[in-house]
Amino acid sequence: MKHRSAKILATIGPASSSPDMLKLLVEVGVNAFRLNFSHGSHSDHARSIDFIRNIENETGKPIAVIADMQGPKIRCGQFKGGQIELIFGQEITIINDNYSDADNLICIPHKELFEVLKPGNTLKFDDGKIKVTVKSNDSSIIKAVVDVPGTLKNKKGVNVIDAVLPMSAMTDKDTVDILFALSKDVDYIALSFVQTAKDVLDAREIIGNKANIIVKIEKPSAVRDIDSILDLADGVMVARGDLGVELPLEDVPVVQRKIIRKARLLGKPVIVATHMLESMIDSPTPTRAEASDVATAIYQGADVVMLSAETAVGRHPATAVAIMDRIIKSVEGDPEFWDYFSISDLPYFDTPEDAISQSVCVMSKTLNCKAVFGYTNTGSTVQRISRERPPCRIIGLTPSIKTARVICLNWGVIPLIMEDPKNFDEMLPHIQKASVLYAGLKSGDKIIITAGIPFGRPGTTNTLKIDMVD
Ligand code: PGA
Ligand code: MN
Repeated sequence: MKHRSAKILATIGPASSSPDMLKLLVEVGVNAFRLNFSHGSHSDHARSIDFIRNIENETGKPIAVIADMQGPKIRCGQFKGGQIELIFGQEITIINDNYSDADNLICIPHKELFEVLKPGNTLKFDDGKIKVTVKSNDSSIIKAVVDVPGTLKNKKGVNVIDAVLPMSAMTDKDTVDILFALSKDVDYIALSFVQTAKDVLDAREIIGNKANIIVKIEKPSAVRDIDSILDLADGVMVARGDLGVELPLEDVPVVQRKIIRKARLLGKPVIVATHMLESMIDSPTPTRAEASDVATAIYQGADVVMLSAETAVGRHPATAVAIMDRIIKSVEGDPEFWDYFSISDLPYFDTPEDAISQSVCVMSKTLNCKAVFGYTNTGSTVQRISRERPPCRIIGLTPSIKTARVICLNWGVIPLIMEDPKNFDEMLPHIQKASVLYAGLKSGDKIIITAGIPFGRPGTTNTLKIDMVD
């Protein structure tokens, strides 16, 4: 299969949680899966994780698992028949409950709403598709009028636009979910509705170094505080669904481009999420605008593009992944794409690791190398090499399955498990074998190898060798 540098992250849901479908999704190109803790029970998620680990064992291909926390996201409850129809101008009642059995009754099980909302406040539902204005609130019953109509389905998100709710960034549910996710050894925890750097620190208190943290940027305050938030995170998601409801829609593309650039400079993986191939929930082909949207994220330098409802509840999960794969490869096949990456002004630390990463990229172009092999314990050197966007594949050799899974999200990186070698020379025959077996290389292809000598001491990358496949 042709190499693809940018990665595909697929959200698991009812349309994709069977072992066969998960396996098919990996075969057509998924590098990482997202478990959405806004939906599903712990036993559902545990089952999915076990299936993914089985697929990993069968295929020998590491796969990252991201546990995505609900955060202080408000969702409506469930409706009799699964949904209600909201009509323009209709007067509706909102109650603090989990279940509604009437046509003009919306249930939202969050008491904070009833404490704060005032006449004139706006509520948006389902990524902003439906809008109502509050007319009255007597602290237990809110009356409102529908401004933008639509069908409201069970458990859709609710955004409160012009009022601040007294909710902390990490809910009790998130804490319970994080502890569960850590017990299942997930690789990344994604934090929703992060607003400040302190939110990341609070999460890190619980998570420690057991998983990496992805901050989801979907609040105006997070956009304002982006630098300090990114400094503390291990990765970032441009969560365009909620971002486009919380901010003016037209700000989303500008924020997307800015965040991708900042993450790239830091060498932290950046995910572009939501609505990427949205029409494929029903249709077997995306719109041309959607194809362009995926391509734009890739041209801008995203490490990862994400599928949400397309794979979670859509009719064509595998086709959506296959089409995303084709769009990415098409962009990566464009010579101008690579020119874009070479005009970069990456900031460097005065470390051997950064010197080697920078040199690797230059050398790979001069020599027309087919692959860079980076031996890494923590993943750090491979992530720094990935940041350089060298025009060849990056094989991340590591003895740690954890590290192998983590680097699945980094642009260009193919993770490969390798026993801790005793010395550099002992590693070379393994690399020769891996070149042909896993990296698709041929005899005579030039390669670059980096490692830290002596082995087994993290953070010592200090050696670079140019070699050739026998
Ligand atoms: P969600 O996050 O799907 O968990 O809401 C992504 C987004 O808001 O875009
Ligand atoms: Mn969101």
